Amino acid sequence: MTAILDLTPQAATTALAEWLAARGEAAYRVTQLVPRLWERPVRLWADATELPKALREALDAEWPLGVMTEETRQASSDGTVKYLWRLPDGEAVESVLIPEGSRRTLCISSQAGCPLRCAFCATGTMGLLRNLAPWEIAGQVRELLLAPEPVKPTNVVFMGMGEPLLNWEAVSTALTLLNAPDALGIGARHITVSTVGIVPALAQLAKRPEQFRLAISLHAATSETRRGIMPVDRKYPLADVMKAIAAFQRRVTFEYVMIAGTNDRDEDLVALAALAKKAGALVNLLPLHPGGAIPLEPSSRHRMAVFLDRLKGYGVEAVLRRSRGLDIAAACGQLRIARPGPGEEVAPQAHRDVHEAPRVRHRPRRPHP
Ligand code: SAH
Repeated sequence: MTAILDLTPQAATTALAEWLAARGEAAYRVTQLVPRLWERPVRLWADATELPKALREALDAEWPLGVMTEETRQASSDGTVKYLWRLPDGEAVESVLIPEGSRRTLCISSQAGCPLRCAFCATGTMGLLRNLAPWEIAGQVRELLLAPEPVKPTNVVFMGMGEPLLNWEAVSTALTLLNAPDALGIGARHITVSTVGIVPALAQLAKRPEQFRLAISLHAATSETRRGIMPVDRKYPLADVMKAIAAFQRRVTFEYVMIAGTNDRDEDLVALAALAKKAGALVNLLPLHPGGAIPLEPSSRHRMAVFLDRLKGYGVEAVLRRSRGLDIAAACGQLRIARPGPGEEVAPQAHRDVHEAPRVRHRPRRPHP
């Protein structure tokens, strides 16, 4: 049976209206039920006390609401909070809440693990465990609304675990759930899809009428360099990604993690500036965080500052992003599940700190010197 939380509000309205009619319930009831899915969520139908008890019991039996359990919550000294959610089948994902001024940005996951194996990223060392369902993606926001001290994120970024565009169907529904006024109601301009650039799905995303923001995890401005750190470039070469983003009627952001000697050379700068200008992109320079599959050196502070200045000199809009949540391994590219499921044995290396280089299961080609 379809999980009711996997349906858009429109589809849920249809499904519940039919079900109510078949039970001989009053038609207006549907207007009481749908807001309880996302707008004013309840953990169980039993909690929707405005409804008759018999109806609530029937709903919990026939349209059970998915439950994700907050297994751990870690707070960083900078205010960032990392949540570990246990999913019904025992898999787990993380989300990271980043407060900044009046903004509360929630960084959400779209897959348990990730198949891409980017050399610098911790999630890639897990491989792909499975895709998340729409309710498990948007549910990371829903859970915060249900917490004892509810938090309503103002912004959502798909920069947690997984590659959203390799799980497009579910992500597409999740985007509706996040954005629809009769669901979570977060403005499209406050929702950012971050991707390495899965070309066919980029075309699908471009077709959505809402103004969702797009961030491309670029990390290299030529395919030659990119292949050394991002195996996906062999399947979807940079040139094809650039063509695909040209279809977007909105400003794109390039994410660029700075790796010493790999993508921070003078020629990298020139190539990046040219690409960003051509695409009219904003460039986000990020410090490399520890935890990837192979030991890579972050660029020096000085080199990052020089890169930023010179990009601006070329007329490119660029910013240097601050790392958040490093002390709890919640920063970009550090999410990785190393905790056992309930009743599972604890493997000794599962306790290893994410700051140490994890065991290499698959060694991507070494980046260019
Ligand atoms: N797969 C998607 C979304 C998850 S990654 C994507 O690649 O965009 C979210 C961001 O963290 C991406 O920009 C990613 O490149 C970045 N990231 C990954 N590893 C990192 C690291 N070690 N240091 C800093 N940022 C990293």
